[in-house]
Amino acid sequence: MKTVVIATNNKNKVYEFKSLLGNDNICFKTLKEIGYDKDIVEDGKTFIENAYIKASTVAHDLNVIAIADDSGLSCDGLNGEPGIYSARYAGTHNDDDNNKLLIKNLKNIENRNAHYTCAISLCYPDGSHVEVEEYCFGIIHDEPKGENGFGYDPYFYIPEFGKTFAEVPLEKKNTISHRSKAIKALKKKINEDFTLK
Ligand code: IMP
Repeated sequence: MKTVVIATNNKNKVYEFKSLLGNDNICFKTLKEIGYDKDIVEDGKTFIENAYIKASTVAHDLNVIAIADDSGLSCDGLNGEPGIYSARYAGTHNDDDNNKLLIKNLKNIENRNAHYTCAISLCYPDGSHVEVEEYCFGIIHDEPKGENGFGYDPYFYIPEFGKTFAEVPLEKKNTISHRSKAIKALKKKINEDFTLK
């Protein structure tokens, strides 16, 4: 049995990792469960760099296999903003504040194309690592719709659904979401039954 530490305290992420990657040979632990509360400074310039900083720090400090993701929204009309600063775009770590600022900054901007990115890094204690990055494309609408999801989801309209991400159940979001695609890509890259070295 191998222990894999999921380097996040976000319950939704933990649930998605466990449900898509779990098998009899892996015991997933969260940072909280393992008693690790060091504040890791995410000062990378890309999603992949930030995911690697988190996973490699935990793998090194605890001598375990660690997995971490970094995600966010990028708007074409804002030169990729908010990007890696998505969680703290308005400076407050608050979804409503972030959304207000996003819609303000997009005022008078015609190009509303946007995408979510999810980068995942899986690091072994010996320093080797596996990385993936996946995307989900949509359009930013001015008016929020729906109660599900989190973050920018009420404004993130998916043409193929005819709805925002906040208007569909999580299972439907997960058929095309950046995070579920990235987790599946990681599994494929390692091996289909996710047997770790
Ligand atoms: P992270 O926890 O550092 O990956 O921060 C991700 C941030 O990007 C969140 O706080 C949201 O603002 C945004 N984000 C990432 N994925 C999603 C999503 O699926 N829906 C809505 N917002 C998202």
